[in-house]
Amino acid sequence: MPDSVKQRTYDAIVIGSGASGGWAAKELCDKGLKTLVLERGRNVEHVKDYPTASKAPWEFDHRGTVSIEQRKNLQGAKNLREETLHWALKDDEQPFIQEKPFRWVRGYHVGGKSLLWARQTQRWSDYDFEGPVRDGFAVDWPIRYKDIEDWYSYVEKFTGIAGNKDGLPELPDSEVMPAFETSCIENYFKESLQKNFPGRHLIAARCAHITDPQAIHIEQGRGKCQNQTMCNRGCIYGAYFSSNASTIPWALKTGKLTIRPHSVVHSVIYDDKKGKATGVRIIDGNTKEMIEFYANVIFVNASALNSNAILLNSTSNRFPNGLGNDNGLLGKYVSWHNYRGKANASYEGFKDKKTDGRNPSYSYLPRFRNVFKQEMDFLRGYAIGVAGGRGTFSNTDMIGDQLRENLLKPELGGWYISTWMMGECVPVEKNHVRLSKDLKDKYGIPQLIVSCEWSENDDKMVVDYVEQSKMMFEKAGFTNIKAEDTNSPPGADIHEMGGVRMGHDPKTSLLNKWNQLHHCKNVFVTDGACMTSTGSQNPTLTFMAITARAANYAVEELKKGKI
Ligand SMILES: Cc1cc2nc3c(=O)[nH]c(=O)nc-3n(C[C@H](O)[C@H](O)[C@H](O)COP(=O)(O)OP(=O)(O)OC[C@H]3O[C@@H](n4cnc5c(N)ncnc54)[C@H](O)[C@@H]3O)c2cc1C
Repeated sequence: MPDSVKQRTYDAIVIGSGASGGWAAKELCDKGLKTLVLERGRNVEHVKDYPTASKAPWEFDHRGTVSIEQRKNLQGAKNLREETLHWALKDDEQPFIQEKPFRWVRGYHVGGKSLLWARQTQRWSDYDFEGPVRDGFAVDWPIRYKDIEDWYSYVEKFTGIAGNKDGLPELPDSEVMPAFETSCIENYFKESLQKNFPGRHLIAARCAHITDPQAIHIEQGRGKCQNQTMCNRGCIYGAYFSSNASTIPWALKTGKLTIRPHSVVHSVIYDDKKGKATGVRIIDGNTKEMIEFYANVIFVNASALNSNAILLNSTSNRFPNGLGNDNGLLGKYVSWHNYRGKANASYEGFKDKKTDGRNPSYSYLPRFRNVFKQEMDFLRGYAIGVAGGRGTFSNTDMIGDQLRENLLKPELGGWYISTWMMGECVPVEKNHVRLSKDLKDKYGIPQLIVSCEWSENDDKMVVDYVEQSKMMFEKAGFTNIKAEDTNSPPGADIHEMGGVRMGHDPKTSLLNKWNQLHHCKNVFVTDGACMTSTGSQNPTLTFMAITARAANYAVEELKKGKI
């Protein structure tokens, strides 16, 4: 029988095929587990499904802009571009309720947001892992840097990270290949910081691009970055890391992986008698039929808020309030990053210099507030992204030959520098997600209510960023300085975390140090939902390392018959 229970039974199920789900699939398949990846969106095959990857500007109907007609019913209407319209999410795919303003950016297709991300990858240090217990704002992380250090290396070598060995204790070195060059204005700013602000180290940001392909990358069929900076269309060279270019095709080659797109996970099935999870229920995106799949181990990697939603919707006699939710904390302590601050300025110098070529990365100023000791009137701190360059412009106030001449020979503008704040948000209980009792989406799944707002700590941090940005720019001799609180809503950073946090104690956390639900050991949650605190670093590298670690542990536990 084609649809028999046997045919729907696997060793492992992974929910979601994004940055973290791709890693779970790779590790589980590498270790010989017959693995099913359930993905709510459509399939996206590397290269074949990047329709705009090599298109020139004039090949687009509207030179990149998106018509009012096309904008209707599309998520993030403000930032849509014709080049990346194929990733846009329809509003009616998954409506959610913003109890307070929240921007929820999602990527629903095979590969998830690993096809959309800016690829910045900075490691955490113990100044991050020890933060909650040192500063007393959250439960203690059940892991430290030493628990994850080798997994960072493991993931980085496979992924390919461009960067330098910077030797900073607050930002441990990664396994790197040559960094992208930083511009002369960034280098100048770095020198000014060294002179005027000891302890503030501007470095080339580490990012998941291959600049010197190694055997492991060639084996994946990936090549060197061509500096086209058209990354978000999908990279035909596989130069930047995405699940589609890297972990998923790798897992497929093992012959152990099945990917099922258009599979909207409804809930995890818990068997009260067996005392464990036995599988996953999906709603087929095309037929709207509910189908069950079964496995011994389940990885929940649907991205932080969706993983919360799935667990909250996984009710049973044993868990009437959501899977593993004995303490009522599931969905609470949701957190994100504070990207409210922005600054920019001009520079009158370097008239003899210009930029040449394109750079897919930036500079990065690691957190310098409250790192080694508490020194400010707010907790934690912020990192700063820095980009600088020299623009060109053409006078286009005419038609004919002169217009063509002007377009062909643009004039050099002045040097500019811009920075953006990347602040750590302190998780608090009242920032939470829960399921609506009344409203459902088109799949019959309860809508998610997101109830998150900034805290006084976040506000104070933005004030400090604005002040410090001005001071750092002034000391460097920059002009036209603007630094502001953009008052963007929570979520605009696209780094949602928490709600299923890790911890030592089942009374105050949901997951143990191996990312197993304390009360349902064959379910692992290894995306941002597991994060006890948020750090200020771009978080995805940490999700990937935590996932690889947990997947290898899960395989060992399966072999021992413990789960
Ligand atoms: C523009 C942009 C820039 C970013 N830049 C950076 C950066 O520089 N550095 C960084 O660290 N991070 C960055 N991020 C964030 C990064 O993309 C995410 O942290 C990362 O992709 C999260 O991985 P994930 O596996 O948890 O989720 P995702 O990659 O989002 O994957 C989740 C997958 O689960 C699927 N799914 C969801 N719900 C269900 C369901 N019910 N059933 C089945 N499948 C489901 C989704 O379709 C998706 O494919 C950026 C994101 C964006 C959008």
